[in-house]
Amino acid sequence: MSKTEIEIKLPSGKVYTQPIASFINNEFVPSSLSNQPISEDNSIPVYNPSTGEKVVDVYEVNEDDFNTAIANAKEAYKTWKDVSQGEKRDLFLKLAELIEKDKEIIAEIESYTSGKPVKNNSVYDIEELVEVLKYFAGWIDKLQGSTYIPDKDNLKLTYHQPLGIVGCIIPFNYPLTMMANKFASVAVGNCAIFKPADQTPLSILVFAQYLKAAGFPKGVFQVLLGKGPNIGEKMSLSHDIAKIAFTGSTAVGKIIQQQASTNLKALSLECGGKSPMVVFEDCNLEKAIEWCALGIFSNSGQICSGTSKVYVHKNIAEKFYEKLIEHVKENYPVGDPFDDKSVLGPLISEKQYEKVINYINVSLKEGLELILGGTEKPESILKNDKLKNGYYVQPTIFKGLTAKHTINKEEIFGPVMAIAEFETYDEVIEKCNDNDYGLGSGCFTNNLQTAIKFSKDIEAGIVWVNSSNDTDAHTPFGGIKQSGNGSRDNGYYTLLDYTNVKAVHINIEQ
Ligand code: NAD
Repeated sequence: MSKTEIEIKLPSGKVYTQPIASFINNEFVPSSLSNQPISEDNSIPVYNPSTGEKVVDVYEVNEDDFNTAIANAKEAYKTWKDVSQGEKRDLFLKLAELIEKDKEIIAEIESYTSGKPVKNNSVYDIEELVEVLKYFAGWIDKLQGSTYIPDKDNLKLTYHQPLGIVGCIIPFNYPLTMMANKFASVAVGNCAIFKPADQTPLSILVFAQYLKAAGFPKGVFQVLLGKGPNIGEKMSLSHDIAKIAFTGSTAVGKIIQQQASTNLKALSLECGGKSPMVVFEDCNLEKAIEWCALGIFSNSGQICSGTSKVYVHKNIAEKFYEKLIEHVKENYPVGDPFDDKSVLGPLISEKQYEKVINYINVSLKEGLELILGGTEKPESILKNDKLKNGYYVQPTIFKGLTAKHTINKEEIFGPVMAIAEFETYDEVIEKCNDNDYGLGSGCFTNNLQTAIKFSKDIEAGIVWVNSSNDTDAHTPFGGIKQSGNGSRDNGYYTLLDYTNVKAVHINIEQ
């Protein structure tokens, strides 16, 4: 018999039970064809990015497991869709309560394989997860259609009904919060099958333990572990799945769009970004600097809406550089995610580390001026035997960005900010909108007219005025252009995205 749960000791010394197999019908089951000890042929290794060491191997599923999960979801859907709104709401609230109670240990579990600093990062993610669950709970018993009486002979109604089985494919950078956003599918009566990123399945499996403890019925939420081109592809191609909700890179989003088209299934795509910030001359400079730094250096720049491009007005540019460097040196220490002082942890993997270092090298070759950071790991990391093989990159800042530079257009997904100067409003808006992506954007100004005009002119799904990467459960999150197909996570809109609005025409002629 294979073992599906093991004890893991976290760097803090805390010990917990970690499932290492897919969550199918409320049980952790190893692959049906690999009911044998875990081996290279039936598993995926999960690493600790702060040291580069392997934490554990998790079982990968095969086609039989996929078909079992689909059959379970179909069975579960027959009853889950009609479970009363009050009962669904109470399950969501119970789940939120259980998670909130254990948020410290869940934050550590999230940190261990994602590299997020526990105190300055993961804890906020768990708080957001709880908020999102409560927010959805608040809507569950208030969702309703509408009634029209267009004339004396007609009554028209709309119902918002679930779609059936939803496949949710999520990335590594915010494992639990990305999962939470797509959990909206379950709130409105769908049965969801989740595929976590290969690098970060552990916290999602722990979430499944809480979901079972909260009393969710079998088959409503299942987790399949596997590589993207394996299980992700099966999900996108399946005719039993009514919708794919994907968050990840634009390149993979395009593959999924093609695969999902085989049965015209509904599709929401939340993809990459290259989000600009504009610092106008009349802004509060200190605040602009704080927010610009936070928008790209938190989560080590692994943020889809990371504000990686900053346009600063030429009259305040010198002061901006000087104060920005000071601010980042002081407030963004790189270090062990389990050290309370760390603000930047490592990047997720060696592959991501090499990709980011390569972008820094390309930018240097292309003549961009490096004003902070670079390709070297920080001294404190190199001197630390435990951390020196981790995937750490210093906060890095370039100035002199122009349209010809590679990082003007391409998503880096690391702690790298590139700055350009501008003179006029029209010039900067044109530069910002000359962008394949359209996710986040922001401006700093004390002029209300400028702020409103910017929010209307910018081609993006999200605009921050005098802030950056401010998100919450109430507000829709998503992009346009190659950042997504207009679907949204969070807010009321996301719930509607997982429903079919049915129109009912009733002839009441006497
Ligand atoms: P990724 O595209 O490599 O992987 C995302 C998910 O897709 C993973 O679960 C992966 O296993 C799966 N996958 C990979 N290949 C697949 C295939 N052929 N078929 C089906 N599934 C497949 O992205 P990542 O590296 O995990 O995450 C980083 C990217 O995600 C960045 O581009 C970032 O901008 C984006 N992102 C976007 C948002 C948003 O809301 N717009 C939020 C977070 C991250």
